[in-house]
Amino acid sequence: MQPLSDCNLEKQEILDIKDIIRNKKLIVHFQPVVSVSRKMVSGLEGLIRGINTATNQIISPITLFEVAHKEGLTLELDRVCRDKVIEAFSYIYHQNNDKLLFLNLDASILDRVEGSNYLTNQVKTYNINPRNIVIEINETKVHNNAALKRFTDTYRKCGFMVALDDVGTGFSNMDRILLVKPNIIKIDISLVRNIENDYYKQGVFKSLVNLSNKIGALIIAEGVETEEEAIQILRLGGHMIQGYFFSKPQEIYNESDLFINNKIEKLSKSFNQYMNKQIRKEREKNKQLNLMVNNLIKELVKVSHQEFDNKLMEIIWANKIIECAYVLDEYGVQLSNTIRFYDKNEVKENLIFYSARIGTDHSMEKYYYPLIGANLNKYITEPYISLATGNLCITVSKIFTNIDNKKYILCVDFNTSDNIYAFELMKNITTPDLTLNINGKSVTEINQIINKMNKEIITDSLTNAYNKRYIGERLLIDIFNAANQNQPISVIMVDLDHFKKVNDTYGHMAGDHVLKEFVKIAKYNIRRNTDWIARYGGEEFLIVLLNADERVANKVAEEIRKAIEKAKIIYHEVPISITASFGTYTLGSGKMTYEQLIDHADKNLYIAKTNGRNKTISL
Ligand code: GH3
Ligand code: MG
Ligand code: MG
Repeated sequence: MQPLSDCNLEKQEILDIKDIIRNKKLIVHFQPVVSVSRKMVSGLEGLIRGINTATNQIISPITLFEVAHKEGLTLELDRVCRDKVIEAFSYIYHQNNDKLLFLNLDASILDRVEGSNYLTNQVKTYNINPRNIVIEINETKVHNNAALKRFTDTYRKCGFMVALDDVGTGFSNMDRILLVKPNIIKIDISLVRNIENDYYKQGVFKSLVNLSNKIGALIIAEGVETEEEAIQILRLGGHMIQGYFFSKPQEIYNESDLFINNKIEKLSKSFNQYMNKQIRKEREKNKQLNLMVNNLIKELVKVSHQEFDNKLMEIIWANKIIECAYVLDEYGVQLSNTIRFYDKNEVKENLIFYSARIGTDHSMEKYYYPLIGANLNKYITEPYISLATGNLCITVSKIFTNIDNKKYILCVDFNTSDNIYAFELMKNITTPDLTLNINGKSVTEINQIINKMNKEIITDSLTNAYNKRYIGERLLIDIFNAANQNQPISVIMVDLDHFKKVNDTYGHMAGDHVLKEFVKIAKYNIRRNTDWIARYGGEEFLIVLLNADERVANKVAEEIRKAIEKAKIIYHEVPISITASFGTYTLGSGKMTYEQLIDHADKNLYIAKTNGRNKTISL
């Protein structure tokens, strides 16, 4: 049912509801339900309004039913309303009997209506075929699933159709849809409003379309106001459209009173244009993706499979739209690592989404089996959520044969859009518990949760420096990038001196405080956006300086060393003095594993320790 802007919603107005019921002081408005694909008005929803004879004002159905409820007259009012609507519809029906009437029924009286023949008789009286009547039940008001099911079963047997109204206001109704198997699902205005800009709504809408297709129901989107909304509804597979975009509810006596054929024609044209444009865009994009994949394969065919990791790294590191790439053997088992690069500080690994490793079986994946099963050479998936990153991506997979004459499959995940997270997972969710977790949370809130998770997983909770896990991920890439850009990269290993004594003298809490302060001081002395610090273990830290040679590394280490030495760290009013020892190492050119790089710095740190501590060694 539409919200009523044209009605007087003042409740204080005392209604003589008995008078309204007795004398049927009600008027009927109709709003068209349009099938765009058939270019026709498929049906009309009958919407009742009351008339206050004293003031001549229109009364909203909400007010009418509230007052009736208070006086215990809900069933009576409901019957009169239905009678009025059916009567008004009968004029239209007898001119054109292929139209449907969408008839609202108050869900709170479901138990009392079931079994009664009142509605059936009403329809008979006006000589209307029950097949033309869709009984709309407001989904959110039904509390008794069993009664709802009995009701719908009974009326369907008599030839009526049943629609669930206002679906999508809460996400708890998937199970109910499966239980009742309505003929029609009416999607609530709240899911439709601005759907063109809201990926989340699109996901939920799509899931409802999938569900309705499974049970053979039709989807009607309610409250459609703009062409953009209408186009999205059609794109997502909605079957019919209702809303101000076509027409406000109004009094009509004939379908031609509506004057909406031009609007339907125009929408259908705009929709075709939109889809054509989308298809052209898609084709263009696929062409580019193919080109990229072919370029990767050109390189991979030249080397044996042990070299795949390095080759992939070399080629894709600078490519922003490639999320990751990996190679499978012909049985679908992953042979290379998942190679991917991050923007500077961004590491998206988290508890839910992580890269597949060597040995992972991909044979059940949609980017594998069509290649082998259907003998395709290349496959492009629909957009889906990458388990490697949690982003929406598509995978392009292609078979190639390398110099050893062995068959492999290259899989490349492409990022299809920014900032889109797990909502696409909603697509096929049909059980209520799964959706509960994010029920009521906004897109921003879900983004925040994911960002927080991502941050936590790479951060040391005590000091807020990065943690050891991060070192493995990040240093690997920094070394690779440094080599590619021909820039030196330096690392500094730091260990606090006689730290055990700090704990012993001032207590562990004081020790913790010193560790935090140390990180603050170190951070203050390195460049914010290029350099980074991670806690390697207990009171040992690793600092990485990008594009920094030996001289710079030594200078930075010395600056930090002096700053620590000078600092008075106050814990509960007690000043604590500490020193630290530093070992630096610079990789001027070429490649080295990150473990080797750290090892060199560690050796220098050891020398600093054995030579009296509070020193920097850069050999
Ligand atoms: P050295 O100068 O040789 O490095 O001496 P040290 O005492 O600093 O080295 P050692 O490795 O013997 O002791 C390290 C101490 O750091 C022991 C351990 O209890 C303490 N430590 C490690 N992690 C933490 C922490 O998270 N909080 C606190 N308060 N202490 C920690
Ligand atoms: Mg120490
Ligand atoms: Mg130590």
